Amino acid sequence: MRTRNKENLQSNTSVKRIGLFGGTFDPPHIGHLIIAETAWEQLGLEKIYFVPAYIPPHKRGKKCTPVSHRLAMIQLALKGNRHFDKLDCEIKRRGVSYTIDTLRDIKEQYCDDDLFFILGSDNLQQFNTWKKPDEIVKLAHLVVYERPNIPIPRKYSSAIRLNGPLLDISSTDIRAKAMEQRSIRYLVPKAVEQYILKHRLYGK
Ligand code: ATP
Repeated sequence: MRTRNKENLQSNTSVKRIGLFGGTFDPPHIGHLIIAETAWEQLGLEKIYFVPAYIPPHKRGKKCTPVSHRLAMIQLALKGNRHFDKLDCEIKRRGVSYTIDTLRDIKEQYCDDDLFFILGSDNLQQFNTWKKPDEIVKLAHLVVYERPNIPIPRKYSSAIRLNGPLLDISSTDIRAKAMEQRSIRYLVPKAVEQYILKHRLYGK
């Protein structure tokens, strides 16, 4: 990414195609990784940044695992993939994490890059309830991955659609399994599974 300060991202003079993948990542699961890898490959992206929300707007009032744990799990999940990285701008900004604010911050600093904002079809369905959706689509291309039983809304047929297997995996389901002391093996990377168990993140 071309950058005026080198805080988090690499600097370079050429225009780059950069993916941004926002979420709560509570915990990050293999669905997230498959989606990001699919986007990287199908869109020819230079890099994909996972952007954990500090307070997700649509989950306000719901209990969320402390951000330090979510960040640590993302770090573990991304390890070993050189084109994945995390961006902690929403955490540093604190407060409710609106995508428009994040995109403006990123555009301000890394003005020349072409941004691709990746989301699942569940989020695209609610996209018109997000803060400033019309501005979001001016700053970044929307990229959507279909979720089981949640078709891509016609209104956003211009969003770039990723082709991949439907993934019936969610953090909600993984938390519920962990809470019931059922296996979450293979649903999250091994290191994430070990972290969850070690810190008893979703225990009763
Ligand atoms: P939760 O169950 O807690 O709501 P989640 O599994 O949806 O979590 P998030 O961290 O909220 O995970 O998701 C980050 C992004 O990834 C969102 O845009 C979401 O729509 C997308 N996403 C997550 N899981 C899938 C999946 N299985 N298929 C397609 N998109 C997904």
